Amino acid sequence: MKHPDLREEVARVAKQLTGSGLVTGTSGNVSARTPEGDILVTPSGIDYEVLKPEDVVLVETGGRVREGDLEPSSETPMHTGIYRARADVGAVVHTHSTYATTLACLGWPIPPVHYMLTTLSEDGRIPLAPYTTYGTEELAGYVSEALGASRNACLLQNHGTITVGKNPEEAFSRTVVLEEMAEIYYKTSIAGEPVLLSAKEVEEVAAKISGYGQTRPLPTENEG
Ligand code: 13P
Ligand code: ZN
Repeated sequence: MKHPDLREEVARVAKQLTGSGLVTGTSGNVSARTPEGDILVTPSGIDYEVLKPEDVVLVETGGRVREGDLEPSSETPMHTGIYRARADVGAVVHTHSTYATTLACLGWPIPPVHYMLTTLSEDGRIPLAPYTTYGTEELAGYVSEALGASRNACLLQNHGTITVGKNPEEAFSRTVVLEEMAEIYYKTSIAGEPVLLSAKEVEEVAAKISGYGQTRPLPTENEG
């Protein structure tokens, strides 16, 4: 079996999605790009609680299955479409997380309502890809268009979310941020009129946030 570590990572993130309540039942899917340029994607309709690394399906970017006994995710065209369009993307997470999907069903893209949105999109805006039937090439096209050359997240009208990252962990953490931002935008919109960041404020924070956190490696336990 090829890529045991990456399979493990895809399966672990799929379980984390369920554990954190971002995914229920068999909705959503996770994928990662292998060093050879193929895709490891979660199988269709399998509960992540029982998902094993060997269940993850290896497919070519054209969609043909290379390795695996189970059917790959019905959204494989959406995943492969993103990888074909974006050389910088190493992993993709799709969910129907509650608040982000609420906005997607209202037809509300997210405006620059909180500075953390700049980690998902340099302009602080999360676009909404138009609705079309799940699993179609048409949906794949709409999503790639919404993500453009550099966005890390978008909403799918009447459906859910997409986030991308260099690895499954990063794509997962962006789904967490997207859901938090969606909840804040939804709640502030219900309570009143959210105050939006100006273009200048967005530009300043987007430039700063790439350097956020620890710049040096953390000391290990032994080093104290
Ligand atoms: P799969 O179970 O086929 O991955 O599909 C779930 C989903 O979210 C479809 O949009
Ligand atoms: Zn879906």
